Amino acid sequence: MKIKEEIKYDFAIVGSGLGGLQCAYILAQEGYKVVIIEKNRQLGGSLQVFSRNKHIFDTGVHYIGGLDEGQNLNQFFKYFGIMQNIDFKKLDNDGFDQFKFKGDDKTYYHGQGFENFENILIKDFPDEQEAIKAYSKKIRDVVEDFPLYNLEPELNLDYYNSEYHRISAYEYIKSLTDNETLQNVLAGSNLLYGGSAGETPLYMHALIANSYIESAYRCVGGGSKIAVHLGKQIRHKNGKIITNNAVVSCNFNTETKEISSVKLAQGEEIKAEKFIFNIAPKEMIRLVGADKFKKAFVNRVNKQKPGISSFSLHLTVKDKSIKYPNYNLYYFDEKNVWDSINYEEKNWPTCALVCVPYSKSTTEFTQVISVLTYMKFEEVAAWKNSVKTDAIKNKRDKSYLEWKKEKEDKMIDFLEDIYPDIKSQIVNVESSTPLTYRDYIGNDHGAMYGIVKDYNNPLKSFMNARTRIPNLFLTGQYLNLHGVLGVTISAFITCFEFINKEKLLEKVKQAK
Ligand SMILES: Cc1cc2nc3c(=O)[nH]c(=O)nc-3n(C[C@H](O)[C@H](O)[C@H](O)COP(=O)(O)OP(=O)(O)OC[C@H]3O[C@@H](n4cnc5c(N)ncnc54)[C@H](O)[C@@H]3O)c2cc1C
Repeated sequence: MKIKEEIKYDFAIVGSGLGGLQCAYILAQEGYKVVIIEKNRQLGGSLQVFSRNKHIFDTGVHYIGGLDEGQNLNQFFKYFGIMQNIDFKKLDNDGFDQFKFKGDDKTYYHGQGFENFENILIKDFPDEQEAIKAYSKKIRDVVEDFPLYNLEPELNLDYYNSEYHRISAYEYIKSLTDNETLQNVLAGSNLLYGGSAGETPLYMHALIANSYIESAYRCVGGGSKIAVHLGKQIRHKNGKIITNNAVVSCNFNTETKEISSVKLAQGEEIKAEKFIFNIAPKEMIRLVGADKFKKAFVNRVNKQKPGISSFSLHLTVKDKSIKYPNYNLYYFDEKNVWDSINYEEKNWPTCALVCVPYSKSTTEFTQVISVLTYMKFEEVAAWKNSVKTDAIKNKRDKSYLEWKKEKEDKMIDFLEDIYPDIKSQIVNVESSTPLTYRDYIGNDHGAMYGIVKDYNNPLKSFMNARTRIPNLFLTGQYLNLHGVLGVTISAFITCFEFINKEKLLEKVKQAK
């Protein structure tokens, strides 16, 4: 009788967010035997999309920076075969991000390319040339402090050495000019990182702003194209992908004190030499067991503040009713854009990011509109014990559905400032709340971007790829920085633990 050989992988990766997929790709490419385990049906975490009436909506990633030839993400994406296989739509060169403020008829623009960015702002703020140029230079100086963003290996991977972790983004921008409108325009896309005046470090603002000012694109057909491509390539390189099956616990080798296997919800056990967790560290500790870590580490992680969550409205509108905007629109009902995150429930929403997905069938008109705004988890706390995803078919309470409908209506009222006839044009309304994000991604409190990074105490949010358990590693947005670029860099930081850094980066630089 033939005995079935038990598979032992070189790497088991828990979670198929962008970071998990990229680690799997890199390791499989280097000849390792990898398996990814994902709790959802769809790969990609925040790259997931959903469809209604044949229209695709993004749930997380709406636009991506640094994709022009010669720019950092373009080169990283070439290494992953993404540039060669996926279509991207470049947003408007002279206004990829546009900003409107209630009571001000003017629209303000961020242009692509630093010179263009400066010139467009100088036209709107002719007396502020000095401040605008100083801002633009500072953004590039900050990026210089993070060599991996320029595809250069770092001697020391301690990112927290950079002084820009300890400088407030809000204070820095305020120090440049007394012109409050310009301050708001410079920080106007701070929804991309949950900008908080008392917490957000300059490095976070600068790395993200730099990436989009360099160039800004949408993923044609939705961000999930990236996940699907990576999944296909991982399988092609003999990697295995298990979906719809969560990791629920870990087994330990009592002698080596290493993880020997992970147990899945449907009962299987997956053995591997090394384990990479692409999930929230708090959840990782719960699955591995708090007793396996130092108390100080567990306390620190448990005390980390989850970032703010969001409410997203996804509208289908009548054909030929709304022109496709090849830009993102940020709209504020606030005097100071940094106040949006501290909204009061009675005034909600106070800001909106309108992002319109682009697909091959998009004409000069759009039939879909997505709108994103902040939402605190407290607003859904009454229903926090309910869980629902497409894999877990539970129903939410009627009171939750009524509350959600109320929020949808409020958000649509708010949108009337931008699209006065919107109500008569809507065909279908969908929305997602902090509970949706929590259940699909697994982040504490449905936090959009993981934990809060705080310039007052950068070390509080510091996460290393390595853990106390010799064969347990971390990757993803908790490590370094969230967003497509931040997570891509984190995947490399994790893989440098196993692969020679210089050689791997050389392969990235050589990718065509
Ligand atoms: C609303 C929103 C808008 C955004 N907009 C942008 C944008 O426009 N541009 C941009 O660059 N970035 C954007 N981001 C940020 C970006 O999407 C994220 O930073 C990035 O995708 C996170 O990737 P990750 O690798 O950390 O994994 P995540 O996306 O966090 O995925 C983690 C994965 O782990 C899985 N998992 C969790 N627990 C388990 C378990 N026990 N077993 C198995 N699997 C498990 C989850 O199901 C999930 O698939 C946005 C995020 C949000 C939420």
